[in-house]
Amino acid sequence: MRVPLTVADFIDRAELVYGEREAVVDEADGPGSLGRITYADMAARARGMAAALDRMGVELGERVALVSPNSGRYLVSFFGVSGYGRVLVPINFRLNSTEVSYIVDHSGASVLLVDPELEESLAGVTAKEKIILDGIQDAELFAPAPPDAVPQRWEADEEATCSINYTSGTTARPKGVQITHRNAWLNASSFGWHTTVTDRDVLLHTLPMFHCNGWGMPYAVTGMGGRHVVLRKVDGEEILRRVESEGVTLMCGAPAVVAAILDAAKDRSEAGRPIPGKGTVRMVVAGAPPPSAVIERIHRELGWEFIQIYGLTETSPLLTVNRRRAEWDGLEPAEQARLLSRAGVPALGVRMDVDAEGEVLARSNHVFAGYWNQPEETDKAIVDGWFHTGDGGHLDGAYVVIADRKKDVIISGGENVSSIEVEDTLYQHPAVAEAAVIGVPDDKWGETVKALVVLQAGAEATEADIVAFCREHMAHYKCPTSIEFRDSLPRTATGKLQKFKLRAPYWEGRDRQVN
Ligand code: AMP
Repeated sequence: MRVPLTVADFIDRAELVYGEREAVVDEADGPGSLGRITYADMAARARGMAAALDRMGVELGERVALVSPNSGRYLVSFFGVSGYGRVLVPINFRLNSTEVSYIVDHSGASVLLVDPELEESLAGVTAKEKIILDGIQDAELFAPAPPDAVPQRWEADEEATCSINYTSGTTARPKGVQITHRNAWLNASSFGWHTTVTDRDVLLHTLPMFHCNGWGMPYAVTGMGGRHVVLRKVDGEEILRRVESEGVTLMCGAPAVVAAILDAAKDRSEAGRPIPGKGTVRMVVAGAPPPSAVIERIHRELGWEFIQIYGLTETSPLLTVNRRRAEWDGLEPAEQARLLSRAGVPALGVRMDVDAEGEVLARSNHVFAGYWNQPEETDKAIVDGWFHTGDGGHLDGAYVVIADRKKDVIISGGENVSSIEVEDTLYQHPAVAEAAVIGVPDDKWGETVKALVVLQAGAEATEADIVAFCREHMAHYKCPTSIEFRDSLPRTATGKLQKFKLRAPYWEGRDRQVN
């Protein structure tokens, strides 16, 4: 028997088995908050959303874009949109209006859902139907379906696109990663298994839901009947408070989230206040290799379990996982941390390899279907059945170690920044003759964006002028935090910039060229 794997499976099971359980604890004072809802209610709202989209004439397969920080409505949309045959396009809420417009247009989204706090800044972004998620305009969209409401029937298809997640990469414009239902299903199940998600888990959404569908946890935790605690904004002390008040057991995030938690915990310790979650919280980290000293601090200062995963939006994202194994139980804490600082071993059903050039390759059912409307880019990424990650690394036995980046991408605070995109913006400044953008190490963000700039002959511009210009044109997290003026930039005989040479002085003395 072959039954199509779709993300509706996760909410269907939650409704059937755990209907009366509390499913979502939304931010109490978030705009349009759902408050506390059960799985029966969440499922009814997802059905209601599908029925409302039917009434709006949104066809199956049509794209529904969503720009919002984490919210209860976001969780409902994962199922109300994708679970009933439409395609969710989660958009990074830090992008500016031009950047969001590009994604809405490129994905061909006919419906655009916008958080009220972004209403003003995204006023210029248009779609056939634009709805502000204020609890009023979207009241019908998120109302629980009446018992007799049956949304349009979708012939479930696991190869259908579940979501299109735009990611900044090697091109000036972000590319739309098409994640199929099969990808999302297998990623969520495997991720849930490797992190042992059970019906007793309480997930705090410290990871933005737009980022690769919250890496798949919204599906995994729902399927197991765990509880979702929504967090709109990362704040270390607030995270600790939620661990205390909601009994949080699980969270995911980039190393910057860990840094915020450790800072808050330090303040608490100094004030003689307790640190919650000892022995009960699992912290899953990805986005950049966390230093082993940080891993040790998570164990020592919080008493939480550290788990590392590695992957990309293109791989749904789970590729490797590094979790303390039984053999390491007796080891010194520093040695355990060192072993955990590697990206990890292949998750079940994933094959990993490193090619002669040192590029990390992957093969798995989590690998995406292709870039939306960019088949030539897909062909560059998947060659001979292997997905090319653009990351440089090596194998340490079964363990993958990420040590370098082949692609021109900077990862700051867990979000990808395309150097080419930043360079494109710099070139629009009238005083800039040449620009090279590189990632340099940064204590808070892991990496931060640095621009090396050659000015036009006779032109004048200060560092502050150029940074301000970038901030006008791009999402702020992509903007250079420092500019260095140079007389010229070293190029190869064919005129190419050698980024690795430009980066080298800033990374000297480090064993890894990524952070
Ligand atoms: P994204 O598609 O935005 O999720 O970014 C994926 C990229 O993040 C990968 O290609 C890596 O460069 C980086 N990355 C993710 N997880 C890790 C990790 N555990 N260690 C090192 N780099 C990572």
